[in-house]
Amino acid sequence: MDTRNPRHLLLQITTSLRHYLESLQEEGVTGLPVASQQKPPASLDMGARQGRVQESELPKQEAPAATAAQPPRSSSASKAPLRAPQPLLSQTGDLFFSPPVHAAQTLEELRAQMGDCQRCKLCRGRTHIVFGVGNPRAELVFVGEAPGRDEDLRGEPFVGRAGQLLTEIITKGMKMRREDVYITNVVKCRPPENRNPEPDEIAACEPFLVKQLELIRPRIIVALGTFAAQTLLKSKTPISRLRGIWHSYQGIKLMPTLHPAYLLRNPQDKRLVWQDIQAVLRDMGRL
Ligand code: SF4
Repeated sequence: MDTRNPRHLLLQITTSLRHYLESLQEEGVTGLPVASQQKPPASLDMGARQGRVQESELPKQEAPAATAAQPPRSSSASKAPLRAPQPLLSQTGDLFFSPPVHAAQTLEELRAQMGDCQRCKLCRGRTHIVFGVGNPRAELVFVGEAPGRDEDLRGEPFVGRAGQLLTEIITKGMKMRREDVYITNVVKCRPPENRNPEPDEIAACEPFLVKQLELIRPRIIVALGTFAAQTLLKSKTPISRLRGIWHSYQGIKLMPTLHPAYLLRNPQDKRLVWQDIQAVLRDMGRL
C-alpha cells in the first residue's frame, strides 16, 4: 500500500482501527469511553466530564430501516424460519463505499457500482473481477477465499481444479445443480501467486460480500476454508475447530468446512467435508 497516497493512507488507518476494535471485541470489551465535545458548565465536576459519559447522555441511534420484502423461495425454503431483512452493511460499512453501493437493490446493481474497483492493491494484477455466480435467490451460498488463476482468467469463481471438486460436491454429493446455489469469495480479485489475501484487502472487499449476502439472504452459508470462516465469523479460531459446527452469521446459519483446494492436497480429509455437507443437507431436508 502506497502510504503517500492519501486514499491508501486513510484506508490503512481505518483498516488498523477496525482490527483494533475487533480485537477488543474478542476480549469482551463492549464499549469505549467517549469524550464529550461540549464545553461543560463550570458547575459540573470536571473530573467526571473528562472520562466516560453516561449512557443516557449518548445520542440515541435510529434503528436502521428494513429492506424491501422479497418474493418467496422454493418449497424447501418455506420451512425456513422467518428472518427480518437486516441491513448488514451498517455494521461493517466502509468509508469509501459510495451511497449507490449501499443502496444497490440487486446483485446486478451492486456489480455495476463496483465498476473497475480499485479499492485495494489486488486491482493491479487482476484480469477480471470475480464477483460471484449462481441463483440470486439461492437458499445456499458457498463463500470461498479468493479467485485463483483460472477464475481470474474466466471471471467466474471456482472453475479450476478446486472448483471442479466443489461442483462435484454440489452435483454428486448434494444432488443439486451449480446454478441452484450461489458461489462467491471473500475477495473478488486474484492475489498474486495465489498468496493469502491480506487483512487490508479483506477489509476493503468485505463490504461487497456483506452486501451480496444481504441481497441474497440465503438460509445457509457454507464457508469454505479459513479465510471465509474467519472473516464471516470475526474469529481467529482455526478452521479445524470451526468446521462441523453450526454458527450464525447475522441470523443466517453458517457451516464452516475445509476448502476444496485443501482437499486436493489432503484427500484423506474429504470425509470431514462430507460430514459437514451432510449436516447441511439434513438441515435443508434433503437427507
Ligand atoms: S479485491 Fe475487492 S476491493 Fe480489492 S480491487 Fe478487487 S473488488 Fe476492489
